[in-house]
Amino acid sequence: MVTTSDTSEHTLADSPIQGMGEEKKVLTSDESRLQVLGVDFSKYPALYERKRAREIVSRTNRGLAMPLIRSYANRVAKKVPNPMMLTHILTTRCNYRCSFCSFSDTLNDKTDDLTLQEIERAYTTLGDNLNVIVYSGGETTLNKDLASIIQVAYQRTPVKSVYIISNAWKPDLLFEITHEVMQRCPGLHLTWSLSIEGPRETNNAERRTYAPDWDAWQNTIDTMEGLKHMREAYGYKELNVQLCTVCSPGNYHLLDGWYETIRDRLQPDKWNLNLMRKSVQMTDHGMASFEDRRSQGDLEPFERKYLEMTQRVQQDVFSGRLKFLYYTKNPYDGAVKSAVDLISQEENRRTVLEKKGQFVCCAGYTGVYIGNTGDVSGCEEFANNPDASKVFGNLREANYDFQEIWHSPKAERYREQVGQAKECRGCTLESQRNYPSILVSFKTLVKAGVMATQIKK
Ligand code: SF4
Repeated sequence: MVTTSDTSEHTLADSPIQGMGEEKKVLTSDESRLQVLGVDFSKYPALYERKRAREIVSRTNRGLAMPLIRSYANRVAKKVPNPMMLTHILTTRCNYRCSFCSFSDTLNDKTDDLTLQEIERAYTTLGDNLNVIVYSGGETTLNKDLASIIQVAYQRTPVKSVYIISNAWKPDLLFEITHEVMQRCPGLHLTWSLSIEGPRETNNAERRTYAPDWDAWQNTIDTMEGLKHMREAYGYKELNVQLCTVCSPGNYHLLDGWYETIRDRLQPDKWNLNLMRKSVQMTDHGMASFEDRRSQGDLEPFERKYLEMTQRVQQDVFSGRLKFLYYTKNPYDGAVKSAVDLISQEENRRTVLEKKGQFVCCAGYTGVYIGNTGDVSGCEEFANNPDASKVFGNLREANYDFQEIWHSPKAERYREQVGQAKECRGCTLESQRNYPSILVSFKTLVKAGVMATQIKK
């Protein structure tokens, strides 16, 4: 999979940027729009001065067809496939303390993150099916090796799409990472998912930053606009930036107005509305569990709002009022990806209403979770349940051999509980429950293909 030139010419010791010089760009922009949003590009040198980096030579086939065929074949043969989608927690450190974070109880507790070298060894054993990686945390950019980790993934696996979730605390750092990754990894589809919880005051209050005058809202907007301009100025055709809002008791009452601001003024490539959940790892949190909420009979106001808003989003996407499209080499592929996101929201609506799902959970089959210290499991709820941990194994203890863990008796035992365990009730984990399942549900993929034709390009 990794070509000879990959391994010999581009080792980790090789500095990709050294000696390549710098390039200056004059950015053109819609200045009045940026002014209204308070965006000042002159604060961010990385936007118009990029360090040149040489591309990694790779002949790896990053298409989805072969991983799909292999996964179907394994299913028929009742074998466990190699994962197609990885959620990798790079660190649980964070410089914000958002009220809704599922790691809120343990944030900053475990700091013994896997090193770049350890990650490279583990990625080498992930197998030939990997197509999507979601990097999450904690704050992903606090792992100083983030750009190198993505390059290692590109060299050691057939990954095509990488998503990075970030609070965008330091726009210039995100721009530098983007320059490096986009130049080094040709053909990689990169999406930044930037968190924002509503208008400036609401967002900054929900984020609970350590400095009271820290303007987290402006950082996110600056980053979004900067990334959009980088795509144009440097020709990063498969670079995407989406804004993500968690629908929670703290902001649901503002979401109508906030949605209109997103749709009509901010116009990210895509807007994700995620539903706040009480995770099994949140031992000390005000919100009742899904089970307790349902035993009271009615939906919470923020859940009702989620149902309403996600339906509104779908209508606006189909009517062309809301921009909701991934930038990909082939526009139809971008529309299919967007359709998959809409289907995932549909599935979450069914979960909230306790209706039968459109597909079954494939965590531990086509989806895998790796924690920051090397724990492997089907999903983060399985991995981090303090009462009933379902960790398949730890990479450090298995000499970084993912396959040994993936096919272990422990993995088999916990796999039997996927979709059935206590933590599965009310689960709306999009990257761990929905996406790995949609990828291998033939019926749902056909549906995404049809929906894609209705999405305005
Ligand atoms: S339903 Fe959710 S909690 Fe249960 S195994 Fe799937 S992803 Fe994990």
